[in-house]
Amino acid sequence: METSTNKIPTILIAGAGIGGLSFYHSVRKNLGKKFNVKIFDRETSPQDRWQGHNIYINKRGVNSLFYCTPAEVQDRFPEAMPDPIPKEYHTIMLVDHIGRQLFYFPQQKTKSLYEIESLKHDYAGIISYRNKLRDVLLEGVDIQWGKKCVGYEECDNGVWILFEDGTREFGDLLIGADGVNSPIRKQKIPNLEINDLGLTSIDVDVAIPKNLADRLMTVYSNVLIQQSLGINGDSFFSYLRLIPIDQFEEPSYRLTIGYSYPTNLDIKEKISIDDNDPESVMKHAISRIKQLRPPCELTDLFIELLSLVPFSHPGEKYPYRAYNPPRRRQFRDIDPLSVPPWKNDRIVLLGDAAHAMNPLLGLGANNAIQDADLLTKELLNYENDGLTKCIQRYNEQMRVRSSRDVIASRKAALRNKVPLGNMDLIIKITVYVINEYKQNDTPYNKKLLNKVTKNK
Ligand SMILES: Cc1cc2nc3c(=O)[nH]c(=O)nc-3n(C[C@H](O)[C@H](O)[C@H](O)COP(=O)(O)OP(=O)(O)OC[C@H]3O[C@@H](n4cnc5c(N)ncnc54)[C@H](O)[C@@H]3O)c2cc1C
Repeated sequence: METSTNKIPTILIAGAGIGGLSFYHSVRKNLGKKFNVKIFDRETSPQDRWQGHNIYINKRGVNSLFYCTPAEVQDRFPEAMPDPIPKEYHTIMLVDHIGRQLFYFPQQKTKSLYEIESLKHDYAGIISYRNKLRDVLLEGVDIQWGKKCVGYEECDNGVWILFEDGTREFGDLLIGADGVNSPIRKQKIPNLEINDLGLTSIDVDVAIPKNLADRLMTVYSNVLIQQSLGINGDSFFSYLRLIPIDQFEEPSYRLTIGYSYPTNLDIKEKISIDDNDPESVMKHAISRIKQLRPPCELTDLFIELLSLVPFSHPGEKYPYRAYNPPRRRQFRDIDPLSVPPWKNDRIVLLGDAAHAMNPLLGLGANNAIQDADLLTKELLNYENDGLTKCIQRYNEQMRVRSSRDVIASRKAALRNKVPLGNMDLIIKITVYVINEYKQNDTPYNKKLLNKVTKNK
């Protein structure tokens, strides 16, 4: 497989999400003279679908974002990732069902994104507004909207991307950055299947008043990524920034909530809910919490937070819109190592299309951005090594890295699903933490590992 003639090869990107956009910028910034690039999205405009909720961008994600993007995009990063304020601690804390602290992940506190980028270790990160990050990444990108990819056709000297509207475009490489339901993946690797983890999640964004933010911060000691593990297989996840989103006398803050519970509860109880009716979905979330958690202050707080979700209607003003209207969704993932290596040809997968993972460890977008970084670095060698070799090296590394994170996220979710007693909970979490640290063998890491082991 090589490029058609002596002309500059063209890269086609299907999907203008975080992964596809990062790669688009990176091609133009780092491979500018070697490749042309075109990007397509099924949405009809940037406003078509709310891109909300807070997401955690870790140190590796930050570094890859900086590598991929030009200065004018980087200048706008603070819109999506405002500098941490002193009382914010951008890390994760787990508490049990009544709010007793089980564990927090020690991370370095930083004053800005730029400080994170310059660190020598991986233990720092920042909570980002996903919708703003997407807006910032749209800067200077010429997207062809309303182009829903339905498949592709390969020929000897290139590849055609096929759209639902009957049109097609020709290129030398096709990047499937079209998310978890990628039609490109389904055509290229039909046996790489989506795995259902047996957990149902209801994810919402909500604006909360200061007094509720204060109560949450007391439970979680100012840690911004918060998870309360239930003893009946449910989990209440929240991501908060303490930067007010309005100028009222009592400011409000944007909170992302993910409440998950074992799917078989809905099956056993033959629950019938209209997932297109946000009000009934939210009532259901609250009744599950009441059923699975003991009456206590923390349970009351969670119910109060969920009661603020205004059963959002499309068109409602920011931030009263969920990422998608609240509905039950399954935790699903795709493990790229669950199938043998696929052919290193013109069709390349990037981001969730190749390796979707459940959101519990906050690693999906980070992997998508790292894919964009890695693929660019491999393509830098294309004139000497040829496309096949570059793509082979990308596929090999991407599969290993992302599979590790898919499996870690899967294990975290499956552990949550098992009803536990208090002691089991603490032991399992300690083992989990030690395993996480062992995965990355840096001196800083070893210091942290010693600390955790001693505490044990
Ligand atoms: C509640 C929640 C919390 C999360 N928290 C975190 C976190 O803290 N940290 C983290 O790293 N990750 C997190 N994630 C995961 C993260 O959002 C995804 O991994 C990330 O968005 C994947 O980026 P992507 O570009 O691969 O895919 P997507 O963001 O899904 O983008 C795919 C793009 O392709 C387009 N598209 C789809 N189909 C087609 C088609 N047929 N033709 C053309 N275009 C198409 C879509 O319109 C979209 O623009 C979270 C996810 C959820 C749901």
